[in-house]
Amino acid sequence: MERELLRIGIGHDTHCFDVGAFIILGGVRIEYSRGLRGHSDADVLLHAVSDALLGAVGWGDIGELYPDTDTAIRGIDSAVLLDEICKKIYAANWQIVNIDTIIFAEKPKISPYKMSIKKRIAEILSIDESRVNVKAKTGERVGIIGREEAISAECVALLVQKEN
Ligand SMILES: [Zn+2]
Repeated sequence: MERELLRIGIGHDTHCFDVGAFIILGGVRIEYSRGLRGHSDADVLLHAVSDALLGAVGWGDIGELYPDTDTAIRGIDSAVLLDEICKKIYAANWQIVNIDTIIFAEKPKISPYKMSIKKRIAEILSIDESRVNVKAKTGERVGIIGREEAISAECVALLVQKEN
């Protein structure tokens, strides 16, 4: 009899604003008057997605897999890291049922980019776009988000492992 194992995972990440001319969110470059500080490309959304997937399969988190003391990943495209994680997950016979994400940013305005972010994440994960949802919230002008000090992101992921 076929057995289906379902697992859920959650991911959360925050990066502070720094000098710069663009930010990378969900693998999409957004021109802006500032950048985000980080050891890699500071893609806060892909880091949350990576942690949700790793959480679902019980493999720890992205910081354990790719420690920021590792000079080889300095400035690296987070899509490359997420692609590596996905390949390992798929090799272990897991499939992504769906992921749901939230970006928390006062500025820049995310809504014009939501569709391209959704498309890009689906492409990196090699899944249908209908399995990816992207939401955006402001910080209502309070806290680190509202004061435009940082951008945060959250993700939940549902995975299934099928065994015959
Ligand atoms: Zn991060």
